[in-house]
Amino acid sequence: MNASTKPAKRTPPPIVWVTRARCPNCDSADLQTRRSTQSADGSTARNTLCRECGETFLVVVE
Ligand SMILES: [Zn+2]
Repeated sequence: MNASTKPAKRTPPPIVWVTRARCPNCDSADLQTRRSTQSADGSTARNTLCRECGETFLVVVE
């Protein structure tokens, strides 16, 4: 068993579907990310604007 001599067989990477964030005000998924800020713990906070009602809120991606 030698892990460094693995055959060059490529399997397609798995697809991960991320649940889309929704507006806390009108529940719309039509959102626009304005900017994202990286936190010290590795999560990303996205300043998000709802195109539907104009609400702005933070979406935190872990
Ligand atoms: Zn909204």
